[in-house]
Amino acid sequence: MAKINENYLKLQAGYLFPEIGRRVSEFIAANPDKKVIKMGIGDVTQPLVPSVVKAFHEGVDEMAKAETFKGYGPEQGYAFLREAIAKNAYQENGIDISADDIFISDGSKCDTGNIQEIFGNDNKIAICDPVYPVYADTTVMAGKTGGYDSGHYEGIIYMPCTIENNFIPRLPEETPDLIFLCYPNNPMGTVATKEELKKWVDYAAKNKSIILYDAAYEAFITEEGIPHSIYEIDGAKEVAIEFRSFSKTAGFTGTRCAFTVVPSELKAFDSEGKTHPVKPLWNRRQSTKFNGVSYPVQKAAAAVYTEQGKKEVAEIIAYYLENARIMKESLTEAGYEVFGGVNAPYIWVKTKNGMSSWDFFDKVLNEANVVGTPGSGFGPAGEGYFRFSAFADRENTIEAMERIKNLK
Ligand SMILES: *Cc1c(COP(=O)(O)O)cnc(C)c1O
Repeated sequence: MAKINENYLKLQAGYLFPEIGRRVSEFIAANPDKKVIKMGIGDVTQPLVPSVVKAFHEGVDEMAKAETFKGYGPEQGYAFLREAIAKNAYQENGIDISADDIFISDGSKCDTGNIQEIFGNDNKIAICDPVYPVYADTTVMAGKTGGYDSGHYEGIIYMPCTIENNFIPRLPEETPDLIFLCYPNNPMGTVATKEELKKWVDYAAKNKSIILYDAAYEAFITEEGIPHSIYEIDGAKEVAIEFRSFSKTAGFTGTRCAFTVVPSELKAFDSEGKTHPVKPLWNRRQSTKFNGVSYPVQKAAAAVYTEQGKKEVAEIIAYYLENARIMKESLTEAGYEVFGGVNAPYIWVKTKNGMSSWDFFDKVLNEANVVGTPGSGFGPAGEGYFRFSAFADRENTIEAMERIKNLK
């Protein structure tokens, strides 16, 4: 008799985006003449930049000739890409990360989920509330939790992030073994300063915990002094894994390329308290279960780090951030309390008069014909908040904001 992994039965149905889709379809069916502007989903809209497309084409052409054809590549990724990342994303910013610590993959979503496998099921996991749903769901799938009750899985340590704590979680009372942090944050669009991250790195060192640091939105940081990498903090190489992705940085959501940094210095413990380096475990996991990212995609990703590529990608990021600036200004004028949007492509809005996230969703959809994401969909502490994404095009962004300003 085949038995299922019963942990999957604990998972709550993916409710948020299907429910948004249902309400939007219903509205469009009832109002076919209305133009609905979508600022809900966290996906990019601008095409790949010319340097990336050129390298991508060249990669395909190489695959088309016997002399340059490539079969399986290294599971960890091609050296040319790992070296380009080490140099451009780290060493040039004074961070001592070597190509050998970098593992190329097809996405940070996969990596933040798969990383759970190399850590035992008796680890306590801490996550923020609200949060990117992947961290909790993959923790459940791995069997590290109990059942679900009123927005929380039993056994996960939830760290509420609200106006009251400036969207930076307090150090939890119960000590976690693995801590997911994401800055710049999705959904809140907020960032952590060096001092705040230092507090977490010191906490992890003291408690022998590991920080799983999702820096998918690093490229959107504009303000001086905000860390782009957790490794800017002294001691972080001993306690942190960093995830980065080309998805939001360079429009790779449909092309697929990301990387994970597991420094040689990072250690974890066996049941007898003996230390083991973590990197060989991740290397073993990837080499066994993953056969690498396609060669043309890795070529395309490396082009992000050429002089021209950097310039082109920076223009796209600036375009989205200008959208965010317009949104922040308009929503503030309209009397909302607004967070994020300066170092991230998300705007996190407090609804007025304690209106619930879903009531605000319906109001904005029905009266302004704009789609956003209810904050409560990212966790109970997101109730009373709403996320707008800055990935729409400029014209629609401006129109959407005019309509929201005119809301009664
Ligand atoms: C978009 C996003 C990612 C990137 O995922 P990919 O699988 O690399 O596309 C990672 N983390 C967060 C929080 C995100 O929003």
